[in-house]
Amino acid sequence: MTRLLIKNIGHLVTMNPRREVLRDAYVVAEEGWVKQVGTGPVPSLEGARVVDAKGGICIPGMINTHHHMFQNLARAFTPISNLPLLPWLAGHIPLWKGFTPDDLFVATQVAVAELMLSGCTLTSDHHYLFPAAASRDILDAGFHAAESMGVRYVGCRGSVDNPSPVMPEWACQKTDAILEDCQRLFDKYHDGGPGSMWQVAFAPCTVFGCGGTLYKETARLARKLKVRMHTHSGETIAENVDAVATLGMRPVECLSAYEWEGDDIWLAHGIHFDDAEVAHLTRNKMGVAHCPCSNMRLGSGICRVNDLRDGGSPVSLGVDGSASNDSGHMLNEARLALFLTRVVHGAESMTVEKVLEMATLDGARNLGRTADLGSIEPGKCADLAVFPAEDLWSNGAENKVHALLLCHPRTVDTLVVHGEVRVADGQLVGVDLPRLLEHHRKTAARIQERR
Ligand SMILES: [Zn+2]
Repeated sequence: MTRLLIKNIGHLVTMNPRREVLRDAYVVAEEGWVKQVGTGPVPSLEGARVVDAKGGICIPGMINTHHHMFQNLARAFTPISNLPLLPWLAGHIPLWKGFTPDDLFVATQVAVAELMLSGCTLTSDHHYLFPAAASRDILDAGFHAAESMGVRYVGCRGSVDNPSPVMPEWACQKTDAILEDCQRLFDKYHDGGPGSMWQVAFAPCTVFGCGGTLYKETARLARKLKVRMHTHSGETIAENVDAVATLGMRPVECLSAYEWEGDDIWLAHGIHFDDAEVAHLTRNKMGVAHCPCSNMRLGSGICRVNDLRDGGSPVSLGVDGSASNDSGHMLNEARLALFLTRVVHGAESMTVEKVLEMATLDGARNLGRTADLGSIEPGKCADLAVFPAEDLWSNGAENKVHALLLCHPRTVDTLVVHGEVRVADGQLVGVDLPRLLEHHRKTAARIQERR
């Protein structure tokens, strides 16, 4: 039996229903599952691997609910550094014409390395780039790269079937080919059971890039197979204006017309919703992935986090693609989420505790994983992140848990995914990071040559 004991945890942020924060605590895991959480004398467990948390702060592994990992091959790309969404997209799409599964593999490994070192144990990747010339099995590379790193992974099968100036013909696929690949990926990778390491979600890109038929058929297939649905919505004001002009409806109305209503859906960004749309989304318990860094970087706006959460919708966090972030640092994303709502609504409008809920429990809700993820409790998966108690930038902090978000973002000392130690002493286990980064740099240089 695989046993793990994490001892000497200074602050254990359980996120259990009582939101207990335990002092001088320990966690015992067996076969990937939390068996015991306690304080006081540490149990002696025969054959257990013992990790000393050195008084650190332990939180449930954070859940990243929006990303486009391939984009880390074009981060801080000069031509799009200072542009809003649509020109930004048009400015980097030509780079990807020769994109291959091998490129996605290395981009995913680097994206996952960033996420894991910053406290993430489950990440989704919304991959919508399927160049006509590339192998049709492109998202397979994402699953295998995630597996090589030991992270939990939700491959969101993105799609575009409407060519446009920003998404030209070579970047689009036929509706039938997309649906066939959704089914193929489900058959090959989706595990809907407790403790699952691999799931798929179906994720048309936007109401501009995808026709109503694709949205409807995707929803019908997703509901038949019981998988989650994801799409971009409410990211910019222009999106609402253009949808009315070209489709005769706002994007949320389009989604309803396309059978996209329900608690099996989470939307990326969710900024520019009017009051009626917020009421509609919360009534249907539709979730949002809040991406504060990307929203600031592209000047898109500020998500109505409290209106959505107060109405009962989960609002989780997403680092978004690295061409608009430009780093996937999960703790930093949480910190920005804490501050961005305060910019509009004041210092009391968002707390460390609420942001930690968004980073963990709301993420589990949006991905349909409330039964096995999101908190550190007996019966849940042993997914947890241990941050050092303090560092230079947080030295002497009175409230160690608040300092985790109020002070400069740290990286983890220890990361555990399904009971396996994936980061030890601040280093990714079994990953030759310098070699990976060199390979990634060369791939990025090749991609960027296409400018
Ligand atoms: Zn996105």
